[in-house]
Amino acid sequence: MSEVRYPIFDIKRYSINDGPGIRITFFFKGCPLSCVWCHNPEGISRSQTRMYTVSKCILCGACVQFCPAHALKAVRGRGVLCDRDLCTLCGKCAEVCPTKAVEMASKTYTAEQVYAEIAKERPFFTTSDGGVTFSGGEPLYQGDLLIQLLDYIGQAAEKDGYRLHRTVDTTLFANQELVREVSHRCELFLVDIKMMDSDRHRKFCGVPNDIILENIRMVASEGAAGYLVRIPLIEGINADTENIEATASFLASLDRLPKYVELLPYHDIGKNKHSRMGTQYNKNNVPMAVPSEKTIEDALGIFKNYGVPAKV
Ligand code: SF4
Ligand code: SF4
Ligand code: SF4
Repeated sequence: MSEVRYPIFDIKRYSINDGPGIRITFFFKGCPLSCVWCHNPEGISRSQTRMYTVSKCILCGACVQFCPAHALKAVRGRGVLCDRDLCTLCGKCAEVCPTKAVEMASKTYTAEQVYAEIAKERPFFTTSDGGVTFSGGEPLYQGDLLIQLLDYIGQAAEKDGYRLHRTVDTTLFANQELVREVSHRCELFLVDIKMMDSDRHRKFCGVPNDIILENIRMVASEGAAGYLVRIPLIEGINADTENIEATASFLASLDRLPKYVELLPYHDIGKNKHSRMGTQYNKNNVPMAVPSEKTIEDALGIFKNYGVPAKV
């Protein structure tokens, strides 16, 4: 087991928004979607991602000197620029940077190391009915790895005398058999629904949504794991009445309702991350805005009318 390594780009402790209770959340690298508003763009690529924060850079020149690919150049007033065609993502610049102005987004962990991080948080799980959440990126993108890890940590917790609550935060854009396998190894899915129209889903997220909706239907009917639904609510993308009606109607038609629907009003946190990655946020200038209080209230009212519990 110890030779398998899991690419993780962030670990969030004391998380209270990623499932019940107090949780530790691991963010898996790699996602097959490309949502224009993505708040974790450093998690999309499966390979390593280099991040540079110009405000932390003291222009010491160490990274330029040690870069084996000669990809870096200090430019007055702009910091250190990276030629991404030359950069091999070797990480040497991050190793020598004294201020953490350069960081490589992901690290790899063995299953034992992941469980060791989980075990540190155990006192919080027992007092709050919390546990571990795997998010991303898309944790099902490397489904075999996820299955092995869910098995390993479940068994390790059992050996330590407790039952670990495992949540998977996912788009469910994955093979149906994989979703079924994962559903038998976790207690809860946090499922994203971005929008109901498949063409718009393809336009704004890079893939159609048919597989996602089929998988939600399956999770609801088979009932191996609980599920709740999260919707990033974005004016200009999916906050219109037609889409909210279609979402509520779809959920109401399932064999089992989600525990609840959570609306997550738009924010543009991804903008700063794109700038640190040297890439452009929303490069096609899709109009996106924070939904008004009225839009949010209207959306909650629609879910209520369909008998689907919802909150912000
Ligand atoms: S599914 Fe999530 S991680 Fe993947 S591109 Fe969309 S917002 Fe980003
Ligand atoms: S990651 Fe490696 S190749 Fe890329 S800029 Fe840094 S040192 Fe150079
Ligand atoms: S090593 Fe770090 S602080 Fe020094 S120039 Fe490079 S990015 Fe800036």
